[in-house]
Amino acid sequence: MTVINEKFVVNTKGHTDIIDITKNVQNSVYRHSLQNASVLVYVAGSTVSITNIEFEPGVLVDLFEALERVIPTGIEYHHDATWHDGNGYAHVRAAIVGNSTSVPLIDGALQLGTWQQIVLVDFDNRPRTRTVHVQIVY
Ligand code: ZN
Repeated sequence: MTVINEKFVVNTKGHTDIIDITKNVQNSVYRHSLQNASVLVYVAGSTVSITNIEFEPGVLVDLFEALERVIPTGIEYHHDATWHDGNGYAHVRAAIVGNSTSVPLIDGALQLGTWQQIVLVDFDNRPRTRTVHVQIVY
């Protein structure tokens, strides 16, 4: 078994900023000219997530609004009583959406659907610089 660790940096605006990182992931994987591998895409941080979505304006607003309905900003969170950093909602959103996705590489191609992009979603209440790890195992 061989493990390759790649990473790249993403600057975000925070406030549920949704950024398409598909090209970054493809570049990290395809430069190794592998045929078959497991590819893990992971971001470190407790107010940021990695997920998949069709990167078109309508569904990005739909995701934003759905999160606002389920885990709203502007209400009290116990976390804010602890740290007074005002981002309790961001921690809860990140916990539910998750920190990683996996994509199989088969016959030299990452198995993403035509309308399936990999996105980083930054929930924090300020701009952040995030490091995304791409771990390739074959
Ligand atoms: Zn916090």
